Amino acid sequence: MSINSYQTAQDLLEHHGNKSGEELLSAMIKEVFPDRICLVSSFGAEAAILLHMVSRIDPSLPVIFIDTQKLFPETLEYRDTLIKHFSLKDVRTYYPDYVDTSRSDPNSNLWKSNTNACCYIRKVQPLARALKSFDAWITGRKRYQAGTRTDMPLIEALDGRIKINPLATWTRRNIQETFKKHKIPEHPLLEHGYLSIGCMPCTSVPKDLNNPRSGRWSEEGKTECGIHLGEDGHFQPNNHK
Ligand code: SF4
Repeated sequence: MSINSYQTAQDLLEHHGNKSGEELLSAMIKEVFPDRICLVSSFGAEAAILLHMVSRIDPSLPVIFIDTQKLFPETLEYRDTLIKHFSLKDVRTYYPDYVDTSRSDPNSNLWKSNTNACCYIRKVQPLARALKSFDAWITGRKRYQAGTRTDMPLIEALDGRIKINPLATWTRRNIQETFKKHKIPEHPLLEHGYLSIGCMPCTSVPKDLNNPRSGRWSEEGKTECGIHLGEDGHFQPNNHK
């Protein structure tokens, strides 16, 4: 990528920092990064909000879905339901590299001993492959979801790419109202109490309802899978200004 991503993020924030949600999304997809941007979606508990917006702006936008091969079957069904519901034209499913899994996780239980290594081969690496042809990507992260996200900007730079967080300032209530208003289908696991849905072995019903991500890696101090960290595996505070 030839752009100075940090400077670009600052410039974009200056010109578009007063927008959020669908308005910001539309500007990024149509005006700033046409054909150079994708949405990365987990097809999890709140993912349908951005998919709904994308379907109204451009249903042909590439949507990247990482199938770690550890997901709930309900998530895969939900992906197919939403593709049909929103008439999405370009959902691309990426898997872990077979060489990586057979070498580092031959028994498919690496998550028991080393969640960071497991996330790396099952999420971080496939996403890096998927993003190669894009200058920018859209995420569904919100500030309210975790302590590590409270100062997350709408637009940031990471590892030479621009990351757009159109829902950064949204609350859980905004999300619930949008689901209701537009009659958006919900993830089938919501009715079983799951509020943030990732891989099956690392997701549980949250004990703290005010902290939806408390059900993720609940036995560990881990809060992020790694795809939102820098290449060195750590948060990069300068990217969050
Ligand atoms: S969330 Fe758990 S199972 Fe999924 S990739 Fe990470 S450690 Fe592995």
